[in-house]
Amino acid sequence: MSEIAPANFFYEMGPIRPPSEGQDHSLLIRTTRNCPWNRCRFCSTYQGQRFSLRKVPEIQHDLQVVKAIHDKLLDAARPSGLAGRVSHDAVLRVWAGQPGLYGNTGDNSTLKWQNLTNVANWINSGARTVFLQDADALVMRTPDLVAILNCLKEVFPTVERVTAYARSKSVARKSMEELAQIRAAGLVRLHVGLESGCDEVLARIKKGVTAREHVAGGQKAVAAGFSLCEYVMPGLGGRALSRRHALDSAAVLNEINPDFIRLRSLALRQGSPLLDSWKKGEFDELPEDDMVREIGWFMENLHCTAYLTSDQMSNLLWEVEGRLPQDKEKMLQVIDHYLTKPLGERLIFRLHRRLRSFTSVYGSLGPELEEIVQAAREAIVKDRADAPDRTAAAINALKEGFV
Ligand code: SF4
Repeated sequence: MSEIAPANFFYEMGPIRPPSEGQDHSLLIRTTRNCPWNRCRFCSTYQGQRFSLRKVPEIQHDLQVVKAIHDKLLDAARPSGLAGRVSHDAVLRVWAGQPGLYGNTGDNSTLKWQNLTNVANWINSGARTVFLQDADALVMRTPDLVAILNCLKEVFPTVERVTAYARSKSVARKSMEELAQIRAAGLVRLHVGLESGCDEVLARIKKGVTAREHVAGGQKAVAAGFSLCEYVMPGLGGRALSRRHALDSAAVLNEINPDFIRLRSLALRQGSPLLDSWKKGEFDELPEDDMVREIGWFMENLHCTAYLTSDQMSNLLWEVEGRLPQDKEKMLQVIDHYLTKPLGERLIFRLHRRLRSFTSVYGSLGPELEEIVQAAREAIVKDRADAPDRTAAAINALKEGFV
């Protein structure tokens, strides 16, 4: 491996990865920058950022940097005798003990620290999983993607699972031969944002894909042997299209039969065009209980064999999780159980769920949030008429923190 100049001793990282890749501490390798579509009205992740394809040698250079960091961390961890585990102290030793690399890192210091912690966490979880960032790895030319996957295998033979986000259209555009090549080179799982199977919802939110195109892309991915995870966004049709959104999404997923279905309930994000529409009264947001009802309609109409999960903070009922069809009744009971609680209990449940999400990330509430949450609690406990509005205000304030 050629010597890497200190100024170049970092690898690029994009802003997001699926929750499952976070749980597995996947190594994050950025193969493209931002989103080639970047027009979905609910999304603000890459707003104002231009899409670009990264050159293969650039990505290969990133893999060399990862390898160098990996080796330095293992060297620093060795004296502790923790069987290849990299402690926080070992990370600090590498950071403080390499002034040539980390002493005067200027603009890249945050990224260099993120690199170290990403690689340390990855080593500690077995260095087995890698996620290719950003929004659509399949938009890359097939030979380039295959070259990166081959390089990854060569540098890190321990890697067992490589995954990526992909748009249905990009999958559908590849030939079966190309998909087979990519799969054989080691890309195992695709995370696809279905959002909805209803054409009217898809058009309104400018997803840039139709229900049939979703089916075409999904079926091709399954036929090529990818493990396929489709994301559905409850609430995306607002009040007007709630039922159609639920039923059409279930119908599309029944045709695709993916391995995983992940619920990611709509949360109006700061900076998203859909939030602007809501402020102008043009989007009628679905109240949370109606969203739960919508998930029930969706579930009732699902007849595939996917594993369904609600592992995103935007979801209210995390317990809606299980293998279809055998766990369907159990999941519908979770929904029923919630919807048949008295209003006060539902409000407390909603508030406490959001509080847990918030405190799991930030530890405690600041004084301002504490006051808003306290006002909601008091209104609920005293059974006041403003309890639903106070609860909604508190939840919206909490969501700002973690959405
Ligand atoms: S395709 Fe994904 S990343 Fe791109 S704008 Fe839509 S939701 Fe956002």
